[in-house]
Amino acid sequence: MTDSPDTPNPLTFGWEEWISLPALGLPAISAKIDTGARTSALHAYDIEVFGPSTAPKVRFSVHPIPGRNDLEIPCSALITDRREVTSSNGESELRYVITTALEVAGQSWPIEITLTDRSGMTNRMLLGRQALTDHISIVPTERHLQPELSHDVYHSARVRQAAPKRALRIAVMSREDNYSTRRLVEAGEARGHSVEVIDTTRCYMTINALAPEVHYDGQRLPRYDAVIPRIGASITPYGTAVIRQFETIGTYCINGSAGITASRDKLHAHQVLARHKIGMPTTAFAASPKDTSNLIGLVGGAPLIVKLLESTQGKGVVLAETTKAAESVISAFRGLRANFLVQHFIKEAAGEDVRCLVIGGKVVAAMKRTGADGDFRSNLHQGGQASIARITKPEREAAVRAAKAFGLNMAGVDLLRSDDGPKVLEVNSSPGFEGIERATGKDLVGKLYDEIEQRVRPGPVPRRKRPG
Ligand code: ADP
Repeated sequence: MTDSPDTPNPLTFGWEEWISLPALGLPAISAKIDTGARTSALHAYDIEVFGPSTAPKVRFSVHPIPGRNDLEIPCSALITDRREVTSSNGESELRYVITTALEVAGQSWPIEITLTDRSGMTNRMLLGRQALTDHISIVPTERHLQPELSHDVYHSARVRQAAPKRALRIAVMSREDNYSTRRLVEAGEARGHSVEVIDTTRCYMTINALAPEVHYDGQRLPRYDAVIPRIGASITPYGTAVIRQFETIGTYCINGSAGITASRDKLHAHQVLARHKIGMPTTAFAASPKDTSNLIGLVGGAPLIVKLLESTQGKGVVLAETTKAAESVISAFRGLRANFLVQHFIKEAAGEDVRCLVIGGKVVAAMKRTGADGDFRSNLHQGGQASIARITKPEREAAVRAAKAFGLNMAGVDLLRSDDGPKVLEVNSSPGFEGIERATGKDLVGKLYDEIEQRVRPGPVPRRKRPG
């Protein structure tokens, strides 16, 4: 036997060969062999450093097929060095160096690659001396001495699905340092992503047709792979304007601005739910005091619920047991010029509601919240208790449809269990993770990252039709 597993077959390279860089998600690249250069170079653009300064990463994009600039592969890698490189035209440039596996004819070995953004470079890649190990011989007059690969792989959905997970740069838009924000950062970083918390109110924007941007602290914010909005109720209009700007730039936002806006406004939200024929308590509202008794009649009379439109955490929700009580609460709210709605009281819910966490169109967890003794409100902020809930098929469907009605990929859907099925009370676009992760013992933030990783993975690019 001449070959042992430790001594791979010698390879002969011509002046141009097909290679692959699997860890970067580049299964087929045509490389020029350049023995005049020490280090290999990859033609990349949008080169950007991110991640912690102790282990900085670089992300960049590659057009693996010359002339097909619509096909873009986003890559990321750890930076192993930064080096001054003088290219063949005599220009010197400080480049990032990464180390990744080179694969040819079933053999694989690590090589160093410098990243350079030179649009004039005809080959996507140059292989330098460092990459050409001892057992490679070069025949400079020949080409394609190694197995041919095809650019067709970039058009295959299966191959693209199998692409390696790359490190993402993610922004959490939040002003609060709470459990959910901390978990989002920790869980994202544990998966190798870089997660930055951005104070939404400190973002400012240039709004123009050609180059919309978001700025922060005197600088333009980088191109994030994904944005996780955690917009507090008090800053909804400005917060959603910032999200809209990210949407304009083309950044993937787990929740869109339109869905956040509609779900925040209780009247708007009820109208959206009704339009999608999703069960909810009969709800009525009016602006004029003349209509008070009609309003009470519309929801089936007392006992009924009167709710401030701005209510959160159950603070502005009142149960009026009698018609007289309802009239006086309504007139008191009107006197304060408060916006409110009147709702049928679902008595049989008995101070319990169900919070369904919907991520990526699926209920990933559900918890039951039970109000403090004697309270019809089940909010945890009002002393309620949470426990894991088993939900029925109609409840699951109502929750999924409610999140979908607002186009929310992450939503907390609250529903009441009534005698005639689930009634959706509210769809929350910034659901808290603490209560529901504790109650269910599940890694729900992880589910959110599964969804983000799936969504920002580049899809296959169609083959170009041949002319004629
Ligand atoms: P908030 O947004 O302030 O939390 P909700 O509409 O969610 O207001 O109401 C708070 C709590 O009050 C609910 O979780 C539920 O337990 C109870 N509740 C609200 N509306 C009704 C209703 N129509 N019938 C019965 N209970 C209700």
